[in-house]
Amino acid sequence: MTTPRFATIEIDAKKCTTPFDCKGCLEACPQSVFSVTAIKVEKGRETDPKEPGTYLLMTGHRDKCTGCNDCIEICPVDALTITWPPLNA
Ligand code: SF4
Ligand code: SF4
Repeated sequence: MTTPRFATIEIDAKKCTTPFDCKGCLEACPQSVFSVTAIKVEKGRETDPKEPGTYLLMTGHRDKCTGCNDCIEICPVDALTITWPPLNA
């Protein structure tokens, strides 16, 4: 039986500061690996996607990643790095 190989997807949060405004990788990924969550919520105030640090990009479905690299190619700030475990690990 072979062990499933899952990608490790690193997001440089210093570069990806407004993921819900950008949405590049979210829209490009055919496997819906990415999602965003609001991390700065103030009562009675709408969370502004253009304000840095208000949303965080997550890779909850990284087990679905096929390694197509569409997300890396579309990212305007080179915030994504994808690595794979060795084949015989
Ligand atoms: S490499 Fe392809 S499948 Fe994997 S997260 Fe990026 S866009 Fe999605
Ligand atoms: S494409 Fe790049 S900058 Fe845009 S949300 Fe994805 S990781 Fe962030």
